[in-house]
Amino acid sequence: MHHPGNVFVVSAPSGAGKSTLVQRLVRSVPDLIFSISFTTRKPRPGEVDGRDYFYIADDRFDAMVRDGGFVEWVQVYGHRYGTGRDWLNEMLATGQDVLLDIETTGALNLRKAIPEARMIFILPPSADSLEQRLRSRGKDSDEQIAIRMRHARHEMELYPAYDYLVMNDDLELAYRQFESVILATRASRERMAPAAQCILEGF
Ligand code: ADP
Ligand code: 5GP
Repeated sequence: MHHPGNVFVVSAPSGAGKSTLVQRLVRSVPDLIFSISFTTRKPRPGEVDGRDYFYIADDRFDAMVRDGGFVEWVQVYGHRYGTGRDWLNEMLATGQDVLLDIETTGALNLRKAIPEARMIFILPPSADSLEQRLRSRGKDSDEQIAIRMRHARHEMELYPAYDYLVMNDDLELAYRQFESVILATRASRERMAPAAQCILEGF
C-alpha cells in the first residue's frame, strides 16, 4: 500500500541556525527531502539554482500566483518566496517526507492548506546571540541585519502556533531534538495504523 509522505514545516528568526540544522537533517535522515521554494531574490554566494531555491523573475512569480501555482507565498525583505503546489504534491506522492523551511506568515497559511503538517520553531537562546550569529555569518549588510532583527521579534511572537519549539543553544542537542520530532512523527499511530492493520491481518 502506498502512503503519501509527512509535511514538516520549520521556521525561525533569521540567524537562529535553521539552515545549519536543516542541511544536516536532510543529509542524515533517509526519505526526507528539503522543499525547494521559488524566490525572486538573487542567489547568495554559494547558493545553487534548483538546490537552494528556484530563482525566478518577478513576472514568472506573478504568473504562478495568478495560476494558483503556490500552496502559500509571501513577500519578506523586499523579495517574494513561495512553495510550488505541483512540486510539493509530486514529492509527497513518492512517499518521502518533505521539510519546508518557510517563514511564519507562510507557515500559518500552509497549516490551513495542510492541517496535518507538523510545525517546528527554532528558538535562538536570546536576542543578543541571534544578532551575533547574523554578524558572524557575514552574509548580510548592517542594514540587512537591522531589518532581520526587527522582523525577528514579529516572528518570535508567533511561536504559539507551532507544535514543537527547539532551542538552538547547544547545536548537538538541538539537532537530536529536531531529528526526534521527525522520527517520532513517523512512528505515530496515525501514520502506522495501516501497517499495523496489515500485520494484524497476517495472524
Ligand atoms: P538561519 O538559517 O536560521 O538564518 P544559520 O544556520 O545560517 O541560520 O546560522 C546562523 C549562524 O549561526 C551561522 O554562522 C551558524 O554557523 C551559526 N550557528 C548555528 N547554530 C549555532 C549554535 N548552536 N551555536 C552557535 N552558532 C551557531
Ligand atoms: P532567505 O532569503 O534568508 O533565504 O530567506 C528569507 C526567509 O524566507 C526565511 O525565513 C525563509 O524561511 C523564508 N522562505 C523561504 N522560502 C519560503 C517560501 O516558499 N514561503 C515562505 N512563506 N517563506 C519562505
